[in-house]
Amino acid sequence: MNERRAGALPYRVVALDDGYASYDQEIRLLGEAGASFEVQPCRAQEEAALRTVRGADVVLVRESPIPRRVIDAMDRCKAIVRYGIGVDNIDLVAARERGIVVANVPDYGTDEVSTQTVALALSVVRRLQLHDAEVRSGRWSTGVLKPMYRLRGRTLGLIGFGRIARMTHEKFAGFGFGRVLVNDPHAELPPGLEAASVDDICREVDMLSLHVPLTAQTRHLIDARRLALMRPTAILVNTSRGGLVDLDALHCALTEGRILGAGLDVFEQEPPDPAHPIFALDNVAVSNHIGWYSEEAMRELQRKTAEEAVRILRGEPPRHWVNR
Ligand code: NAD
Repeated sequence: MNERRAGALPYRVVALDDGYASYDQEIRLLGEAGASFEVQPCRAQEEAALRTVRGADVVLVRESPIPRRVIDAMDRCKAIVRYGIGVDNIDLVAARERGIVVANVPDYGTDEVSTQTVALALSVVRRLQLHDAEVRSGRWSTGVLKPMYRLRGRTLGLIGFGRIARMTHEKFAGFGFGRVLVNDPHAELPPGLEAASVDDICREVDMLSLHVPLTAQTRHLIDARRLALMRPTAILVNTSRGGLVDLDALHCALTEGRILGAGLDVFEQEPPDPAHPIFALDNVAVSNHIGWYSEEAMRELQRKTAEEAVRILRGEPPRHWVNR
């Protein structure tokens, strides 16, 4: 049924996943663009998705799979917009063949991920895991448990210098790093930052933070060979993608004292195996891929997803077109 009821809004936008506390931004922004908005959670049920996408002008999706069969059932859909970055749940080729735009929102939560990077880094620098456990266990020692080092005058390394790395650099600026080395073939560096190879960064930095996407080229970017280049006082922070780091090699390097510590928000396998020996180390700070989150970031994501849908309904190109 492609026709619209008389008096009804000209467009219909559906979200295939629920889970947000409020959808007031979607309702308002899409309503202003002449679209009705419904949340029709399909809970990964293909049959439910097939029914829901019929008659929809734009489909919003979080984690529900959108395979070719669901795309084939889209009879008037202009676009699928993903709440977030990853689009691996959507058959991009099938969508392109049908002339359906797939767009995502890669630029929400930049502030949060950069803060998470600094939080994990500082937690390792000040050995918070170790000292926290001491106090909670009733031990109280004012002596040195394990050596800690001042950041001022040391060298920071950033691999990838996009949105999150730039904001991380801004936030680290107050700690007085003496040098900042960067590897990003596509980025123009502001004055004072030095371009360097990944190997040179590994050799020279005291704090290494990863901000590149995971690709075939960047998988295990930090492996046993590169960990062996690093200083024994160096700290590795990864808030980007778990696959960038060989976790077993990192565990070895940490237990053998070849680097000082690590802060990890992301893991190659999520959720990671809680029995992995890396979780027994007190020089490792971890979090559960929560870097992106704050209440503000979540609202930013919902607003940007709705704005992308509005642009497409108005016949404008989306800001982040994934399957062009
Ligand atoms: P971005 O696209 O703005 O920046 C990525 C940068 O990496 C670009 O400047 C690009 O030129 C560079 N790059 C790509 N391949 C490279 C390579 N082989 N070597 C060196 N540089 C390379 O992305 P962003 O918004 O800064 O996000 C960075 C990463 O953070 C994302 O890829 C994503 O995996 C991760 N992320 C994590 C969370 C979280 O919750 N922990 C949230 C959002 C994003």
